[in-house]
Amino acid sequence: MTPTVPALPAALPIGYPRIGPDRELKKAEEAYWAGRLDADGFAEATRTLRRATRARLAELGLAGASAAPESFSLYDQVLDAAVATGIVPTRLAGVLGADGTVGTDGYFELARGTAEQGPLEMTKWFDTNYHHLVPEIGPDTDLHVASTQVVDLFRESLEDGEGTRPALVGPLTLLLLSKPADDAPEGFDPLDRLDELVAVYAQLLSALREAGAPWVQIEEPVLAADQRLDAAQLAEALQRSVGRLAASEDRPAILLATPYGGIGDLLAAALATGVEAVHLDLTRGDLPSVAQLTGVGTTRIVAGLVEGRTVWRTELPTAAARLAELRSRITEAGGDGENVSVSSSVSLQHVPHTLDRETSLPAELVATLAFADEKIAEIVELAAGQVAPGSVDGPRSVPRTFAGVRDEAVRERAAAVTDADSTRTDHEVREEAQRQALGLPDLPTTTIGSFPQVTEVRRARAAHRRGTLDAAGYEQAMKDEIARVITLQEELGLDVLVHGEPERNDMVQYFAENLDGFAVTEHGWVQSYGSRCTRPSILFGDVSRPAPITVPWATYAQSLTPHPVKGMLTGPVTILAWSFVRDDQPLGETADQVGLALRDEVADLEAAGIRIIQVDEPALRELLPLRRADHAAYLDWSVRSFRLATSGVEDTTQIHTHLCYSEFNVVVDAINALDADVTSIESARSRGEILEAVDPDAFPRGIGPGVWDIHSPRVPTTEEIVDQLRRARAVVGARRLWVNPDCGLKTRAYAETEASLRNLVAAARAAREDA
Ligand code: GLN
Ligand code: ZN
Repeated sequence: MTPTVPALPAALPIGYPRIGPDRELKKAEEAYWAGRLDADGFAEATRTLRRATRARLAELGLAGASAAPESFSLYDQVLDAAVATGIVPTRLAGVLGADGTVGTDGYFELARGTAEQGPLEMTKWFDTNYHHLVPEIGPDTDLHVASTQVVDLFRESLEDGEGTRPALVGPLTLLLLSKPADDAPEGFDPLDRLDELVAVYAQLLSALREAGAPWVQIEEPVLAADQRLDAAQLAEALQRSVGRLAASEDRPAILLATPYGGIGDLLAAALATGVEAVHLDLTRGDLPSVAQLTGVGTTRIVAGLVEGRTVWRTELPTAAARLAELRSRITEAGGDGENVSVSSSVSLQHVPHTLDRETSLPAELVATLAFADEKIAEIVELAAGQVAPGSVDGPRSVPRTFAGVRDEAVRERAAAVTDADSTRTDHEVREEAQRQALGLPDLPTTTIGSFPQVTEVRRARAAHRRGTLDAAGYEQAMKDEIARVITLQEELGLDVLVHGEPERNDMVQYFAENLDGFAVTEHGWVQSYGSRCTRPSILFGDVSRPAPITVPWATYAQSLTPHPVKGMLTGPVTILAWSFVRDDQPLGETADQVGLALRDEVADLEAAGIRIIQVDEPALRELLPLRRADHAAYLDWSVRSFRLATSGVEDTTQIHTHLCYSEFNVVVDAINALDADVTSIESARSRGEILEAVDPDAFPRGIGPGVWDIHSPRVPTTEEIVDQLRRARAVVGARRLWVNPDCGLKTRAYAETEASLRNLVAAARAAREDA
């Protein structure tokens, strides 16, 4: 480290969207994977995107070397760090070239799998709707610099201008998010490799310095979460990793970023590492106290005052007052109150690029919104000291008061809710009633809801949206598709059918479009993972259901078959998790409103003769607060809203729920508390892990551990499904075991769907025989 610390600009977001305002990254990747773009063309396309991003950031006023974060990733920042340091599992060792490096194709194989091997597992990134890949590491993983992308991108940024600030997920976070490789011995902990991993990071930092990078950003969001290590263990591990890196001379100055929550007393440990700057999330966390700032010395504090997880405009006078208060506390703690930069709480990768292109949002709503570019403008404005401070305790975002924000009828209804509204008869009584009413075999077969979205369906939806297909034509197109899907399921021999969800573009947006209280954007895409993007709706006002939503489709499907057709809804927690939600009232209040709106839909489905209703809650796990201390309050409101939606039905009506990701052990109590009759959950991709966590005494309900990994085009054989079913039956018993895929089939093609479902039905029949 050079004796004088290079300047760090006053305004610096810690990350920026990488997909491009027109989803350029997605389009280039899909073209490359489909062979429509060769390797050079693909490299050129991503380079063009990065260039446009750097130009845009400069235009937004991020001035000076290191002001702009290097946010580019071909797929995922956790995968980038894993590949940079050689964390490649033995089962995918083929991605390493003869020289020990991983090229673009190898990188994508880790992310997407090969013909023989599944990809790395994927899971939610902290409490966001972004997914990261889960590196697999063992005692023998050969840790080494396997990609110099972080250095190459920095060099490229110097060609374009002043140079971006390279960013790396830190060694501690990387290992805490990794899992032991399949071939690792019992008892191996990824953290066992921390010292060796830090040595590889040191090489990367040395290379960055040699390339001329004044600063590097090391991100350690695990400091804000206490899932596995307690505060003392985190402090020790931080010293052993980031502290070790900081002790070297041969490196750029380090900005240690701690997004996704306050780090409280761990600030002392962060300061003690000897890094030159520490970033704090000050939107969720409190301002650090003078005592917590004691070790600040000459460390620059990077104040994450602009919330990067929501789309609401920052109440700038409040933020300015908090900034002033922070400066005075730093001074009081013996530091320099001027040695501060302004930043975002987390990377802006979780919000869309810009509001500029939205033409149909109401002006009053727009006045309260900020996407990434508008948030950068706020950061620049705050950093320039242009805002007169208001009150430290003022609102954190601009208050919203326009029409549609308050609906008194909705509020009165929510206020009148009693416990009886979220309570059903004892579930064992229901189980018997449903057994008689539905007459299903043991190991009943079903799917999770959606069937492949064929081109004609997408076309019809788009034409209807554009106005070139009228309501009657659209309805007929959907009915044709529903009829086709029902016939197919009957022919395949499934027991519980679905209508296939052809009318839905997205499981949350569809409901947002049909409920009051939501606004929908035109270009508000955010990356979910890799090339996958979603366009979250904006929940800004009180929520209610003006008219039935799914009832006509479900009843049409049911009219075509004697088999039960499962009604299909998205649950309140997931609707909240995958939307941008108002922050002017507790989430629980908003969730109750959504729960009550869905309750109306459930009642109408039941009245129309639908006997099984599935309410999907794939986001139950992801919204779980990062700190255990906050779990009880979260479970209280999340569970209540689901039960409000589902408790109005007869004993004979069977309520299903579905979760995409297992981590069953983490959420088993919550799932149990939902009081659903049947739960389907991902299991095939994680190779049956959940069965280890299911205790039939603790979870005495129907359960369908997925037997087909629908994230890959691979068709599972009948034998392997039978094998999974036998293992599951040994744990949960034949009476409660359901047979289903991991998730919906929307993104699959018909060829593999038909083949896989045929094997699934055959396997269920075979497993019933040997019961
Ligand atoms: N019912 C939805 C579907 O099948 C569930 C999707 C999900 O869990 N993400 O598409
Ligand atoms: Zn799912």
